[in-house]
Amino acid sequence: MNNHANSNVYARRGLMLVLSSPSGAGKTTLAKALLAREENLRMSISFTTRLRRAKEVDGEDYNFVNKTKFKKMAEAGEFLEYAQVFGNYYGTPKIPIEKALASGSDILFDIDWQGTQQLEGDKTAGKDLVSVFILPPDNDELETRLRTRAQDTDEEVKIRMAKAADELSHYREYDYIIVNRYVEESVQMLQKILGAERLRANRQSGLHKFVQILRGET
Ligand code: 5GP
Repeated sequence: MNNHANSNVYARRGLMLVLSSPSGAGKTTLAKALLAREENLRMSISFTTRLRRAKEVDGEDYNFVNKTKFKKMAEAGEFLEYAQVFGNYYGTPKIPIEKALASGSDILFDIDWQGTQQLEGDKTAGKDLVSVFILPPDNDELETRLRTRAQDTDEEVKIRMAKAADELSHYREYDYIIVNRYVEESVQMLQKILGAERLRANRQSGLHKFVQILRGET
């Protein structure tokens, strides 16, 4: 009998890979590169009340909604976590995430420290969570990246600089920390983290059956 053919015997629950960093540390670039290389990884699309930037696509980068709609969703318990960042609301929708995890897909989250703390405190989500903090290589780099982000107004850039310091103070709360010196190096580090975390015993839920087969018990 060829049991390799039946991939169900290796089935595992998906994991939630969270990336946090101060704005301007290069996190979006890393997330995109990682998604392009990892077939079984999908991006969680958050809801937000902030205005859409010129290059952003509704339903792809974010689901853009107004404050009334966001509030309604929050009250109805439709978010796994949500937080206020830079005066706007951001939240992770529950249903698509639960479906993806149950089907064995891994999900990538670009959320801040407040959202990460909420997920960690959640009885179910906490077990599926792997959190990575991305540090910028130095101060200059952070500032340059923020300033060249032409879509934001001067006022927004200022607020983001102040918020960067706040976000940085939470780096020790994460499972892994990457100093983002070179994109290629950082993406490879993320792939190693993902690879190792997928092999964790408690995530390989389908192996019980497989081991029974190996032992000749079925
Ligand atoms: P931006 O406005 O630059 O797209 O995102 C601002 C910040 O909000 C980033 O730090 C990003 O990680 C965070 N963020 C985006 N979506 C969510 C979300 O669903 N929940 C939380 N808690 N933070 C989010």
